[in-house]
Amino acid sequence: MDASHLLIAAAHTPHLQAQAPGTVTLVGAGPGDPELLTLKAVKALQAASLVLYDHLVSPAVLAFLPPDAERVYVGKESSRHTLPQGDIIELMVRLARSGRAVLRLKGGDGYIFGRGGEEAQALAAQGIPFTVVPGLTAAQGAAASVGIPLTHRDHACSLVLSTGHLRENRQLDMDWDLLARPNQTVVLYMGVNNLPEICRQLVAHGLPADTPAALVEKATLPDERCITGTLAELPSLALRHQVRPPALIMIGSVVSVRAQLMPAATTAATEGDPALHAAA
Ligand code: SAH
Repeated sequence: MDASHLLIAAAHTPHLQAQAPGTVTLVGAGPGDPELLTLKAVKALQAASLVLYDHLVSPAVLAFLPPDAERVYVGKESSRHTLPQGDIIELMVRLARSGRAVLRLKGGDGYIFGRGGEEAQALAAQGIPFTVVPGLTAAQGAAASVGIPLTHRDHACSLVLSTGHLRENRQLDMDWDLLARPNQTVVLYMGVNNLPEICRQLVAHGLPADTPAALVEKATLPDERCITGTLAELPSLALRHQVRPPALIMIGSVVSVRAQLMPAATTAATEGDPALHAAA
């Protein structure tokens, strides 16, 4: 269904707004593989009559919805929003106010770079009852799927999840000193388009250029790709392999563990190209 149509419909049903408020369930749909949904998420999907879902929710996850559930695609790619965030919130609030039980479905975990916090704040401010169902975040799905433990006593004692994209495409003014610290793993979301600048800044702030690094595209999905190299090589590898969002950038010595955990994936792909360790 067309989201703008529903927004207008909800706006013109003032008699419904007098009803008792409905509810919103904010559900994290995980990184893509439907088997990585939580049991709570599956139950919420199976009971849904109206769902507002984002770009990163995979069709295999939507397959759990009852056939007659109303599905509203509200989009959300970093630069192309089908509905601006403010309109998504307005639509969700209006629908809940009209008495509907709304399932708000987001990729990964709604509270990790998913703007779930902003949506929950709006619901709380409006007095609309809501519950939150966590999902596996992309970093967790990717870690398991490509054989890169996020922490490891020999490699990293802390993990930083960061965005590599800033609001309104302002200049990247991240805390580079923090990101360049030793003995940690850094996972960057939404960073592929800023990869050269990210790698340049990390090296400039002291992270060795030969730090192992990986790009994981479409983690946990059938067409997942993992490309590994060094921090310095990553931008050219991304270019050569045409890495596209959704993809994660993983940086840190833990990336080297992949060769041990998934030797078949790494050796098969390195034949003929020692700089590349790509696995389908
Ligand atoms: N809430 C989501 C993140 C949304 S931000 C979560 O918890 O995972 C969108 C970014 O997430 C993408 O640009 C990409 O960096 C990352 N991402 C989401 N799903 C992914 C996937 N299956 N594989 C790789 N990266 C993914």
